[in-house]
Amino acid sequence: MMIPTEQLLDIQAEYGSPVYVYDANQIVDNYKLFTSSFSVKDLKVHYACKALTNISILKLFKKLGAGLDCVSEQEVQLGLHAGFDPNDIIYTPNGVSIEEYERVLQHKTKVTVDNLSLLEKIGVNYPDHPIHIRINPHLMAGGNQKISVGHIDSKFGISIHQLPHILRLVKTLNINVEGIHVHTGSDIIDKDVFIRVAELIFSIADQFDNITSIDLGSGFKVQYKDGDMYTDIAKLGKAFSDRFNAYCQEKNREITLRFEPGKFMVSNAGFFLTKVNVVKQTTSCTFAGINTGLNHLIRPMFYDAYHGIENISNPTGEQKLYSVVGNICETDTFADNRLLNEVREGDTLIFKNAGAYCFTMASNYNSRLRPPEVMVLNGKAILIRERETIKDILSGQPEPTFTLTSEVKVG
Ligand SMILES: *Cc1c(COP(=O)(O)O)cnc(C)c1O
Repeated sequence: MMIPTEQLLDIQAEYGSPVYVYDANQIVDNYKLFTSSFSVKDLKVHYACKALTNISILKLFKKLGAGLDCVSEQEVQLGLHAGFDPNDIIYTPNGVSIEEYERVLQHKTKVTVDNLSLLEKIGVNYPDHPIHIRINPHLMAGGNQKISVGHIDSKFGISIHQLPHILRLVKTLNINVEGIHVHTGSDIIDKDVFIRVAELIFSIADQFDNITSIDLGSGFKVQYKDGDMYTDIAKLGKAFSDRFNAYCQEKNREITLRFEPGKFMVSNAGFFLTKVNVVKQTTSCTFAGINTGLNHLIRPMFYDAYHGIENISNPTGEQKLYSVVGNICETDTFADNRLLNEVREGDTLIFKNAGAYCFTMASNYNSRLRPPEVMVLNGKAILIRERETIKDILSGQPEPTFTLTSEVKVG
């Protein structure tokens, strides 16, 4: 952990608990590791901002020279607000309306198209706007060789089996396809799988005349605990760059290589500081009940994600097994049978890997307030989002006056 325990406790003392803390220097290191792992002529890294959209984090990525990957009109607006050039934003939504699409097109960002009916509408109404086609590569071309990119029935992208249909639309409507995009969404550990997906994309790119961009999305797996498998970016970058450069040379094409890492950039930079409200002994286990719940960090309940937890108040305490649970009126279990240094009421438990898909998935369920966010840069803690107040929860509710008629009055 790069942020010292004392500083974390200071942050908690100043901003209260629970609180999200992000190590900006770790984000810088992640970005540098990623970009230095590839050696191609033109690499563009679009940070997938749904992982963590705090404006200050977006500005940090802007300063680093990154682009953005946005999956909604509002993320595009946040990106523009943070100062990104529209040309450095790639909009890769899924299943959105043509109306949202048209509003984003006004901003002149890069856009991907992920279904045939949208492709046709864009072709008819905006034939000149350059587009990227999102392919769902679930099977190898030819259909006999399955590759393990998961999500066979994924809703994302246009099926590779519909390539003839895509080509027909592009030709008839004279659509300006500048890029091929793929994002499988699965954790890809084996670099060879990645390269096989790329081969598939190369073979698709071959069928278009003016491809200047190949976007391989993300799918990089990070470590949540010691011994976890993860994507070795340096190794992947080396092997991939060689293959990519050979392709460009062989076809005599200048192509921008794009990636859209989210989790890789911010997951390990985030820490979530919580306090133990209650230690409850039952016949079968000991619960450590903390001052947060699935309203603030839903990944363990939502998709069985593992988050490392440490008791930073009692680092030398005897290790015991605990069920760490939230304070929401639902079964919100963060961890079952987890070995922690003895937990006492009032102790601070810290969650690791709390940078990606944690705050951005937080809600006001049970009408609880969302926590503040603090960024630590070069040793200095800066508040980047205030804790909500009851005003935030009441805001936007016009509270019109109304009366019940006598028939519906009860009692
Ligand atoms: C979510 C998303 C990403 C980022 O995925 P990570 O696993 O967080 O790296 C990239 N591209 C698209 C289109 C996405 O929807």
